[in-house]
Amino acid sequence: MITLHDPFNIMSKLAALPSVEKLASSLASEVSLPRPLVNLFLRREIDRFRQLLLADENHTREEIEKATRQGLLEFANSRLQPVINATGILIHTNLGRSPLGPRAATALEKIATGYSNLEFDLPSGARGKRAGYLETALACLLETEAATAVNNCAAALVLTLRTLVEEGKNEVIVSRSELVEIGGGFRIPEILETSGAKLVEVGATNKTHLHDYEKAITPQTALILKVHRSNFYIDGFIGEPEIPEIAKLAHDHKLPLVEDLGSGAMINTDELAPIEHEPTPQECLRRGIDLVIFSGDKLLGGPQSGIIGGRTDMIAKIKKEPFFRAVRCDKLILTTLQESIDQYLETKADPARSDVTVLTFLAKSVDELKTRAETIIKGLPTESTEITIENSLARPGGGTMPRSEFPSVAIKLIPKTQSVTKLAKKLRLSESALVGYTTDDALFIDLRTVFPETDNRVKDALESALS
Ligand SMILES: *Cc1c(COP(=O)(O)O)cnc(C)c1O
Repeated sequence: MITLHDPFNIMSKLAALPSVEKLASSLASEVSLPRPLVNLFLRREIDRFRQLLLADENHTREEIEKATRQGLLEFANSRLQPVINATGILIHTNLGRSPLGPRAATALEKIATGYSNLEFDLPSGARGKRAGYLETALACLLETEAATAVNNCAAALVLTLRTLVEEGKNEVIVSRSELVEIGGGFRIPEILETSGAKLVEVGATNKTHLHDYEKAITPQTALILKVHRSNFYIDGFIGEPEIPEIAKLAHDHKLPLVEDLGSGAMINTDELAPIEHEPTPQECLRRGIDLVIFSGDKLLGGPQSGIIGGRTDMIAKIKKEPFFRAVRCDKLILTTLQESIDQYLETKADPARSDVTVLTFLAKSVDELKTRAETIIKGLPTESTEITIENSLARPGGGTMPRSEFPSVAIKLIPKTQSVTKLAKKLRLSESALVGYTTDDALFIDLRTVFPETDNRVKDALESALS
């Protein structure tokens, strides 16, 4: 509230505001941000404090300078930067999901910094087909007729639905047990609506029968959609028809059966680690799914992308849909995805040997992690912190295999002279941006998701945060 009766009071209060110019000169050297950005940030902060002072709050110049400096440092930290993932969550959505392997990274650099045959046919010298090689490689890997890729799985789903529904034939049948939220607040019913589809829910939360699907089929039905329960599970009195049964029903009515699979595991996850079997796109297609849709940057371990595989006629139709142009992949995604897919094709017999990072992390032995943990903690200051090596549990994360936890190893830190929260923050704000996880009294650094080549940086970060 502006107290008009007391202009002198306001004037003297506003005198506490530092000048943007002066503040910028003194703080610009503390962060490596472009100067115009520093100026903009500080101007906004000072404006904010001006409003607070006018609203009769009390702030001294010292306070304002301190808060502004802190805000600027935090803003600088929000710049996209590498972090060390010591959470034990393999595909951490907040930490960028799957890391690309070295082979994909090398290809990325070459294509990104030069010219390429993106849409150019070298033999004829004429305009060429974008992603032609990748699409064939994907179809080969998926053991299906055709495939394509777009920006992400959600886009692939919207695109597929838009293509397969039409005026007067826009009903999409989905089981009530599959109306999931896929993350970031996006839900299947909303995605359907965006796509111009009309949702027809069938069954109950725990049980859906084949006759539920059958009863829902009308002349307006466009397709049947299955959504993989990738980020949760239901248990108890549950049941649903097998895919081949739903496929037969759909095909008897000349309807496509589409599955949004989510993770896109190309390997038998249960053979690589003591975890659940995640259905693969190949299995879905073999069981009668006409089009399968999944993410490129979950268990597949490639770049963010959405892959659609299945029947040639449907893939061709999808590629002709105008919306395809709006969600197509750029050359950086196409090249990294191409590397990821080629690697699977080359190391089919033993995918853990490829450089798909999430798979190599998944396959690491507990003994190896333990040895690394011992090397890291050797010589760390223990006067004010209790440091031990513990058996821990890692998780796939990224909305895949919600039931799976598998053995891992963590460094456990119990600080005696500072709070756990403070120690965790110190490590996050350290040069290596080390992110672990905390319980009430301890901080854990799980090694399952830490690259061995960054172990020395983990050690350095711990050393300075503990001393
Ligand atoms: C993760 C997930 C998606 C979304 O994938 P994005 O690549 O993030 O768009 C869609 N459906 C299911 C079932 C998922 O698990």
